[in-house]
Amino acid sequence: MNAESFVVFDNIGKRWNGQLGVENISIQIPEGSFVALLGPSGCGKSTTLRLLAGLEIPDEGEIHIDGLDVTEMAPSARNLSMVFQSYALFPHLSVAENVMFGMKVRKVPKQERLEKLNNALDITGLLGYEDRKPGELSGGQRQRVALARAIVARQPLCLMDEPLSNLDAKLRHSVRKDIKKLQRDLGMTVVYVTHDQTEAMSMADIIILMKDGHIMQTGSPRDLYGQPQNTFAAEFIGAPPMALINGGTISGSDHADKVGVRTENVTVVEAGKGRLTCTVAESEYLGEETHVLLEHPAAKGLVVKMPGYTSLVEGSIVDITFEDSTLHYFDDKGNRMS
Ligand code: ADP
Ligand code: MG
Repeated sequence: MNAESFVVFDNIGKRWNGQLGVENISIQIPEGSFVALLGPSGCGKSTTLRLLAGLEIPDEGEIHIDGLDVTEMAPSARNLSMVFQSYALFPHLSVAENVMFGMKVRKVPKQERLEKLNNALDITGLLGYEDRKPGELSGGQRQRVALARAIVARQPLCLMDEPLSNLDAKLRHSVRKDIKKLQRDLGMTVVYVTHDQTEAMSMADIIILMKDGHIMQTGSPRDLYGQPQNTFAAEFIGAPPMALINGGTISGSDHADKVGVRTENVTVVEAGKGRLTCTVAESEYLGEETHVLLEHPAAKGLVVKMPGYTSLVEGSIVDITFEDSTLHYFDDKGNRMS
C-alpha cells in the first residue's frame, strides 16, 4: 500500500445476499486530487462512494483515509462531506439554516458559524439568498446550497454522487467549472461519481472507469483517451467513441481481433484510394461541423467530422484512410495489445 496516498482502497469487495456490488477494487488517491468514478448505470460507482463514506461496510478489503484504517468506522468519524444528486436540503429551513445545520449540530460558536456561512455563500454566489427556502430556488441554486454546506464543513475529503444530473445542460456546464475551481482553491480531495464521460474528462485529474462492479482502467483523462486498455474504455471515452474495425479487414492488422481508430485520425478520400470503402449512413449537422456516420460490415462506430455543412449524401460510397501509427490494437478478450 502506498503510504503517500490520501485515500486507499485495498482489494475491496461488497455483495448483498451473494449478489455482486463491487469486487477487487483497489484505488490510490493522492491528496488534493479530483477523482472521477465513471461508468454506466449499475456499474458500482455509488457503492464505491458509499463504502468510502461509511454508509456501507465492505465484505473484504480495507479502506484507509489519511493513513487511518476507516474500514468499519462510522461515517461521522471519517472527516468527510457529501453532496448528492437529490441535494438533501431541509425544505422548511432557509438557505442559511440549511448551510449551518451541521455546524449547529457540532455546536460551533455562533460568530464562527456566521463567518463560515458568509464565506460559503460568497464562494457559491448565494449572498442575498440567506432567507429563501429551497422551494423558492432554482435547481442550480439548490445545488449550490448543497455545495455551500459541504464547503462550510471544511473537511479535507468531499464525496459527490452525480451532483449535477438534475440540472439542465447549460447550468451543468457552469456549475461544473464552479466545483472544479472550489476544489482547487480549497485544496480539497474530491471523489466525484458520474456516468457522463464529458464531465469526468473535463473535471478529473484521475478517472476510475468501472463496469459490472470492476475497475476497467485507472488513469488521467489523457491516458484513457490516448491509451485505452480495453475496448470498453475505447468505446466509453470520447464523443464520438473510438471506432472498432475487425482485425484482418485492414492491411497489416490480422494479428489483432479489433483495430481502434479515433475520428480525428480518419480522413475521407477519393473512392478507391482509401483503406476501407464505406456507405454514408447518416449525417448530424452541428453548426461548426457535421458528424457523418459511415457503415461497413466489419466496423462499428465509424464517424468522420467534416467542417461546417457537408454535401455527403446518405447512401453514397466513400473511402476512408488512416495512418498505422494512429491505430489501437485489441486481442480477442478486448484487451489492448502491447
Ligand atoms: P451505480 O451507482 O454505478 O449506478 P450502484 O453502485 O448503485 O451503481 O449499484 C451497483 C450494483 O449493486 C447494482 O447491481 C445494484 O443493483 C447493486 N446494489 C446497490 N445497492 C444495493 C443494495 N442496497 N442491495 C442490493 N443490491 C444493491
Ligand atoms: Mg449511482
